[in-house]
Amino acid sequence: MGDEALFWEDSWDGHPPILSSFPQLQTLCHIFTNARWVTVEHFKTVKRVGQLEVTCWKDIQEWPVGGLEEDRAVLAKTLESRFCSSICEQDVLAWNPSPKGKFTVAQGYAMLDGNQHGPNIVNWWKKVWHNLSWPKCNFFLWLLVQNKCLTWENLHKRGFHGPSICLLCSKNEECTSHLFFYCPYSREIWHRWWEAWR
Ligand SMILES: [Zn+2]
Repeated sequence: MGDEALFWEDSWDGHPPILSSFPQLQTLCHIFTNARWVTVEHFKTVKRVGQLEVTCWKDIQEWPVGGLEEDRAVLAKTLESRFCSSICEQDVLAWNPSPKGKFTVAQGYAMLDGNQHGPNIVNWWKKVWHNLSWPKCNFFLWLLVQNKCLTWENLHKRGFHGPSICLLCSKNEECTSHLFFYCPYSREIWHRWWEAWR
């Protein structure tokens, strides 16, 4: 468990991201080179974080960073129970708002729109077709909301014979949700956009 999920920023094991639970530890995270991109699995076993030797994750309280002792003690205790109870299975992406963990594009937009009650009460026509953006962007968004983009998955449904693997990551099947939300390439873009926007 944890070979893909990011330790600090992802919601893993059904819990909120570490950084949202311990916002004061943001500085601790950024001090270590590339620590922001450390996966859960890597964090569990790593002996070195950036330039610093870290014996194991339990030594987080000993990291040479002044202050935040209380937060670090709570985090170490939290990790102990979460790591000990974690199941050794392959990581699976799950959509938290859905009981079955299944993501839909419509739900994603409802979430971004601040409406978590579902897509039925979202007026997509009004949201998409307005005069404040380029017509071709409106059209593309309209296709996306309806899952009509020409992904490999949708091309296959139309009888097209060809590859099915995502061209951006060359790992997973290319469907709408993967291409726009789950692909590592897309996740990086969303992350940068979010960082710039907030
Ligand atoms: Zn991909």
